[in-house]
Amino acid sequence: MKYSRRLCPIVPIFNSVMRMQVVLVPLALMFVFNGCRALTALEEAQQRREKRILEERNATSLMLSPSKATIKITPDALRGESDHYTLKFADDLRALEDFDEVEERKIFTESALGYMESLYDAMNRLFGFQPEHKIHVTLHHLYRGSNLSAVTRTDYRSGVLDGRYVKFINSIQMDFPIRMYEKHGVRVHELTHAFTNIYFLPVWFSEGIAVLIQTEYAKGGTHPKFDSLEGDLRVDLDGVNQLESWGGHTETNPLTHWRYRYAYTLVAELWKRYGKDFYTRVFRLMERDGLHQKLEGTMRTSFLVYYFSEAAGEDLVPFFRKLHFKVRKLTKEDILNQIETNSPRRRQ
Ligand SMILES: [Zn+2]
Repeated sequence: MKYSRRLCPIVPIFNSVMRMQVVLVPLALMFVFNGCRALTALEEAQQRREKRILEERNATSLMLSPSKATIKITPDALRGESDHYTLKFADDLRALEDFDEVEERKIFTESALGYMESLYDAMNRLFGFQPEHKIHVTLHHLYRGSNLSAVTRTDYRSGVLDGRYVKFINSIQMDFPIRMYEKHGVRVHELTHAFTNIYFLPVWFSEGIAVLIQTEYAKGGTHPKFDSLEGDLRVDLDGVNQLESWGGHTETNPLTHWRYRYAYTLVAELWKRYGKDFYTRVFRLMERDGLHQKLEGTMRTSFLVYYFSEAAGEDLVPFFRKLHFKVRKLTKEDILNQIETNSPRRRQ
């Protein structure tokens, strides 16, 4: 196969294009979107206070082992590439005094990629898996007009393969205004998204685990935990937990700060109850079954709670119901039936 590919590259390329057309029709492109939104003045004041508290408790900085990754940088130092990343400078950043010379960009890129590779290794050890795709990082002076909003975007395509709906990850893109990139906690938060987005998680869990890792692992959190999950609960007019209707980081409303804090408190509570490897077990179970790829859109909370219960060794539906989540107890058969019912073959 390798021999024929080298001799006649056109044939395998043609085959792969044909296969794409035949099996992946219709093809849609979507994305899972996460990021740290801009902070209000009040939150910034709170952030300063928390920073002081962190300094006072003399938090140990994250100790990372040096990475063995290979780093390549283009002669103009506008682009760098390492084992798990590419890194480039947006035009508005290159215009700044600190980045307008090749040597400055070269030193920065080498150090940034080395650091991000070490962080990648640490995340890999923490979660027990890694995304298949390289992470494409772009550094900006301002991103979407702001220097306070870092965004991780996981594009996926969905289509029909052998008569069944299926989703595949296409690419992972991170955009940081340089001011946010400089914050260690933000890098950890966004890298958590880059790792966990491949499971198409509900927003509340995706953000909750990112704040958990940012706060407890990197000691760089900006959303403190609540004292009590029940005491600080907020519900909508239907009586459903306000986490369930979280539209993602792009929304900014009076509930946003509560949502980050409550999601973190909830994710941290399960971590405390079921051990530090609880989420590693959850992701391992999901990976084993691969059912997250066969369900349309992002994951429903009931699906997530099915895996939480499996990993915990006890039914967690009552716990989530008590917190006013709209969940029902699922069996593996229920999930398989749902996939079967919604399969394009069945719809025809
Ligand atoms: Zn986030």
